[in-house]
Amino acid sequence: MKTIKTTRGLCTNCEKESEVELVVKKETFNVRGEPIAVDVEYSRCKECGDEVLNPAVNHDPFELAYREYRRKHALLQPEEITDWRKAHHLSQGEFARLLGIGIATLNRYENGSLQNESHEKLLRLAMDSSNLLKLIEKSEGIFSESRKKKILETLRESEEVSCSLDDTIMITFGGADRTNLNGFRKLDLSKLYNAVLFFSRGGVLKSKLNKLLFYADFKHFKEYALSITGLQYAHLPYGPVPDNYAMYYATLLSKGLVEFIEEFYPSGYVGEVIKTVKEPDLNVFTPSELRIMATVMEDFKGYNASQIQEFSHKEKGYQQTHDGEIIPYTYANELNY
Ligand SMILES: [Zn+2]
Repeated sequence: MKTIKTTRGLCTNCEKESEVELVVKKETFNVRGEPIAVDVEYSRCKECGDEVLNPAVNHDPFELAYREYRRKHALLQPEEITDWRKAHHLSQGEFARLLGIGIATLNRYENGSLQNESHEKLLRLAMDSSNLLKLIEKSEGIFSESRKKKILETLRESEEVSCSLDDTIMITFGGADRTNLNGFRKLDLSKLYNAVLFFSRGGVLKSKLNKLLFYADFKHFKEYALSITGLQYAHLPYGPVPDNYAMYYATLLSKGLVEFIEEFYPSGYVGEVIKTVKEPDLNVFTPSELRIMATVMEDFKGYNASQIQEFSHKEKGYQQTHDGEIIPYTYANELNY
């Protein structure tokens, strides 16, 4: 048991305000015959010892254990299914019928139930875009003819507009399987671009932006066992930075989504500021991703580039890796933040 912090709070057992400590306990759950250990947060009254699940963490310990189990076995996490379905303009009912499973089953998976093995395979097959097109084309009675036509058009279009630059990036850098180097998510360019647009509103030094992305991805991984963008972070002398970040920012520049501004300092240092031109599309993010991004933005608001750099140098994941090495997300559990 580890105490994180002590505050004053309301104890429902004592029915009054008292000293409340936030404690973390390792608890082991049996998931499909496998012991899965997770950190569970409780708030504990120091007067009567009464413990309740930390209300600020809004999922039950079993869900955490499922999440960890899925991570270990590289199964789809609930929000990956939901995100994908929404990005492909399908309702839950339509997608369930395409898969040939009950809508209640799909609904349970999207809300945290553990999928069985055959459904995992089915989902993976359907989530391959060429398979999806075929499934929809061949489907009967699921969509009206006009809806079917429209949805096929939209899907084909979105395949075409994913411009060749992004294709090249994905082929070159996005092919990595889901591992602890990318936070168990394949590179998601849409989330990456929109996260950059989110953090660069009003302008931010690139060196600070690199750290904000690092903290958003690692903090989300710490809480949900999944990164936001699927980026890999490299250990560079100036702290952890997204691998190949210069290329991503240049791509955003060439798409006209950001602008670069040079900032001159009395010391002779020239800083490069990246500034959002087009507002981010926040619909690509899940509520948990948005919450973490907003928290990171707020918490580091008062930090300049060198302060956040100094802060990131103290991270175990940074200290235990060497120049040029990718920092595994497993260090997220020991994040100072
Ligand atoms: Zn009490």
